[in-house]
Amino acid sequence: MRNTDNEILKKTLLHYINLEYYANSLDEEFQTLLNELQARCRDAIESQKTISTKASYTAVYRIIKEEVDKFQKELEERLEEQAELIMNQETEFLDGLYNKPVEEGEGNVIKTAALAFSGVTLSKVLFSPIDGRDTAKQFAERTGKNILRSYDTPLRSGYLFGQKSEEVTAQVSNQMKQVARGMQSGILTAIPSFAKTTDRIVFLNNNVEVVWCAVLDGRGCITCYSLNGLHFKSVSLAPAIPHNRCRCVLCPAKDITEPLPTYEEYIESLSEDDQLHILGRNRYDLWKNYGIELKQFVNNGRKLRLDEIDTAKSFSFSSEKSQEILDKQQKVNPQKLKKVIAGLAKNGYEVKMGDEIDRYLNAMGREAAIYGVSEGKPFVMYHSKLSASGMFEEIIHLSQIRKYGIEKARALYNELEIEAKEKLLKFAESYGITEYEQDVIQNMLDFHKKQIGRE
Ligand SMILES: [Zn+2]
Ligand SMILES: [Zn+2]
Repeated sequence: MRNTDNEILKKTLLHYINLEYYANSLDEEFQTLLNELQARCRDAIESQKTISTKASYTAVYRIIKEEVDKFQKELEERLEEQAELIMNQETEFLDGLYNKPVEEGEGNVIKTAALAFSGVTLSKVLFSPIDGRDTAKQFAERTGKNILRSYDTPLRSGYLFGQKSEEVTAQVSNQMKQVARGMQSGILTAIPSFAKTTDRIVFLNNNVEVVWCAVLDGRGCITCYSLNGLHFKSVSLAPAIPHNRCRCVLCPAKDITEPLPTYEEYIESLSEDDQLHILGRNRYDLWKNYGIELKQFVNNGRKLRLDEIDTAKSFSFSSEKSQEILDKQQKVNPQKLKKVIAGLAKNGYEVKMGDEIDRYLNAMGREAAIYGVSEGKPFVMYHSKLSASGMFEEIIHLSQIRKYGIEKARALYNELEIEAKEKLLKFAESYGITEYEQDVIQNMLDFHKKQIGRE
């Protein structure tokens, strides 16, 4: 499953890849400057035998600060220069791509010529984040700060412990390798980003509906894949470039003639290895074993952290099926429920019920759920059509969570479901669980056993 059968899209992707290649030379230039900076700073440090006095620290720090300021200014200026260059080049690219002779009935030509205008566009390009976070200027500042920190921390500890200057420079060099890598990634992002931002401005000025197109080669991330094929009536509604080295592009919707695969379609089409690689072990497990849907891992162009994923939506029946079960099963004896609620309250667990809770549980296809465990304030939600089995099952789950802790309980999801269901069946009579419910429980038990390859 690929996106690149589309001619316009293929050309656009190649164009940005070329810009990354082009950015390599700017990166090389700054890697050299960084090496030179390091050589001069090393000389400054080693001009002191040890960094043992406040005076020696201050003397060295002042020199390094000057070097970093110069470097940062140079980086910022060169990026600005490149932004202008790329912006002007981009008009030519867009003209070549879109402003071909118009066939009959075909309108909506993008008038890029109008772009070759002004400082207005340039300042927009420079004020847009290159990587979903920093503008070019902020990136230069952050790089400068990182360099300074790479020196300052070892210098301070050198001063504190009276270290030899060689020891200080040895500590610096490791840190600087990281700074160099970060700078490379930023520069390689900045150059194509200038072009992408220019395109966005052109599309916006021409009122063009756009489609988000990711590169479907198994090397992207779930954020980008989750946006693939999404239409935006206006560029201003599309998320910003989500991260460094993102290869996604926006294409005018009229040029994307075949519908692009959705996120789910694409992920499902991959081999298990590739799925694992893209999702990572935890998300892969949540998806395969916990019934968490792929779209729950992202929210409007942002990859959710594990603790942000709504794992309450784990295995459940379709809402139709669950409504049927809710209607058919016997409601729990109100006296018993009252007792249980009081017992839970004694143990510090609030029970929530009511219309709102019903709506929520209906949406999840469940009759009960535990919530708020990650916040350290777990509470129980019971449906108004709660059955005896539903009531007891959540109590069993609460004790499992207490026993294992939430992380482990989540990892053991299927095992703990099996344990709970077996217990319900074993004590069906004394819990007052009807035969109908026992059948439902047995079905779910089989499901969970299959999930972990038992039976
Ligand atoms: Zn990505
Ligand atoms: Zn991307």
